[in-house]
Amino acid sequence: MHKLQTKIIFALSSVMLLLTLVITLASLASFRDFSIRAATEHTRTAAEVIRVALTEAMLTGTIDKRDSLLQRIASVNGLDEARVIRGHQVEQQYGSGLLAEMAADPIDLSVLNSGEPVFTLIGGIFSPEFRATIPYIATSDGDVNCLLCHSVPENTVLGAVTLTASIEHMKSAAIMTVSFLVMAVALFAIISILFLRRLLQPLVMTANEIEIAVEGAIAGDFSHRVESRTNDEIGKIARQFNALSEGITHKLSRIRENVVQLVQSKPDYNGSNLLTETAETVSGLVRVSRFKQAIEEDETASEVFLRISEVLEQEFGIETFSIYEVNAQKKILRSVMVDSVPDAKIHWCEQAIHDHCTGCRAVRTGHMIDGSDNTQICRSFSMEAASQDKRYLCLPVIESGSVGSVVQLVFDPADAQRVRNLRPMLEAYLREAAPVLQAKRLMASLRESSLKDAMTGLRNRRFLEEYAETLISQCKRRKVPMTLLMMDLDYFKPVNDTYGHDAGDQVLRELAVILQDNVRESDLVIRYGGEEFLIVLLETDAEAALLVAEKIRSAVEKHKFKVGGTSLSKTISAGLADYPNDGQAFWQVLKFADVSLYAAKEGGRNQVVRFHKALWSEKGDY
Ligand code: GH3
Ligand code: MG
Ligand code: MG
Repeated sequence: MHKLQTKIIFALSSVMLLLTLVITLASLASFRDFSIRAATEHTRTAAEVIRVALTEAMLTGTIDKRDSLLQRIASVNGLDEARVIRGHQVEQQYGSGLLAEMAADPIDLSVLNSGEPVFTLIGGIFSPEFRATIPYIATSDGDVNCLLCHSVPENTVLGAVTLTASIEHMKSAAIMTVSFLVMAVALFAIISILFLRRLLQPLVMTANEIEIAVEGAIAGDFSHRVESRTNDEIGKIARQFNALSEGITHKLSRIRENVVQLVQSKPDYNGSNLLTETAETVSGLVRVSRFKQAIEEDETASEVFLRISEVLEQEFGIETFSIYEVNAQKKILRSVMVDSVPDAKIHWCEQAIHDHCTGCRAVRTGHMIDGSDNTQICRSFSMEAASQDKRYLCLPVIESGSVGSVVQLVFDPADAQRVRNLRPMLEAYLREAAPVLQAKRLMASLRESSLKDAMTGLRNRRFLEEYAETLISQCKRRKVPMTLLMMDLDYFKPVNDTYGHDAGDQVLRELAVILQDNVRESDLVIRYGGEEFLIVLLETDAEAALLVAEKIRSAVEKHKFKVGGTSLSKTISAGLADYPNDGQAFWQVLKFADVSLYAAKEGGRNQVVRFHKALWSEKGDY
């Protein structure tokens, strides 16, 4: 039985039981009262009859026969006993009389003393009897003047009569009536319960169905419907509940369709809570959209990669991974991130993929590579990692149709299913990252090329203008020297004139290589003008710089420039000035290097001149 029905029936039964109890008690009480009243009247009448009979016997002189008179009266139906006792005064006047006429018990005595009648129930509940002890009071005022025979004052208690009557028949009548009432109430209760059950049935069934449907809905299943059984409020609740479920199902499936479109993959909900999953996917997409905003405002591709690694770690709980960047021109694969460490060495793959990016299966195929079951699928996965039973999932980031970078997740076999489930959301992140990464790289390469000289590949004057202040402030902060070498080819014009402009260009290109080869990676070689070059030697004082300059001068002198089928020798002149000895400002040091170059030319070319103050004052003479 359903709980609601049980409760109602229990309550109803309790009320009926209470009602029966109250009716029974009330009936019994009123029966008792009625019995006492009836018996009182009954005994009073009998007492009066006895009094009249005794008086009559006294008058007619048959008072001796009073015993048999009382016996006859006692045999009247309904009376059990009739007993007369003598009062004190009567005993004094006429003697104590018969044995039975003496006071037999405390009630007799109390009635004789007080002159008040006593009515009481005796004999217990099973054979109830009514006892009345009624006094006879002497009076001169009645039908017979008592004082004629009794020499007592008015109102003296002459005696009393004790009558007992059975009230058994009253008890049987009461039991009958109460039984009938109880049966009537029970019948009424049964009929009411049956009626209520019929009435409650649809309510209980609807409530039960709603309970099941709501339980289903909490678990994300909105397919349960509730049968509408009646046309009243219960039926309306059922219909409205169904409408609500249908509305939610409809809207939810629309949200799901949109989510599927956004995630571009049908999430695998099998058995899980559709509503919670959808809500989670939507909040995931909101996070993707925030991620997109953030990376768009980032400056470089490296910052974007850093954000991807944060997402992997913080949102997906993946701590071992690699991010590779493809250099399509050089066909190499650069490791930009390993386990959250930027620019770390390749760790989870064989080193060979660095030089041959097609060694990476994800780069070569442009597809996701799932090594969660079989690590052999990609031959470039680190043998060592495979021997530790590590698994992987490599996701290519496609930029304009080709693989721009690869995100490789590395995990334990136990984590494989979880990682597979994360894939759609991770791909959503990578789809957003792809165009942003491409744009950042394009910007970076544009910027790079705008700061480079196209012919020699060296940095150009614009680069110098942009970085001059940074360079000097770095030196100031780190308290290190810096030397500038200004160089110019000697008699270059004739090369152009003799061999043509292209030959001149070729000489400049070869010279650029010589310059680059004779300085450290950290030094900056800048094409300052046509055939003028500036070399910034960082953390180098003038003495050390002189050696570098001399090395370059000599290298140029020895070099055979290949021009138009022949080769020719050229020389170069150089002027040298340093920070902080010669000047504190970048452009001042540059000026002094230029002045020194002029001095070198003046001094006969093919030489290096270190700046000294005299050169500047001499210059004032020009
Ligand atoms: P010197 O420096 O020894 O005084 O004599 P020079 O003949 O080298 O004289 P100058 O430095 O004045 O000559 C510069 C010449 O370099 C002028 C120009 O024709 C040539 N030049 C400048 N830029 C380029 C270039 O990009 N390509 C070629 N082929 N020639 C260039
Ligand atoms: Mg020159
Ligand atoms: Mg010149």
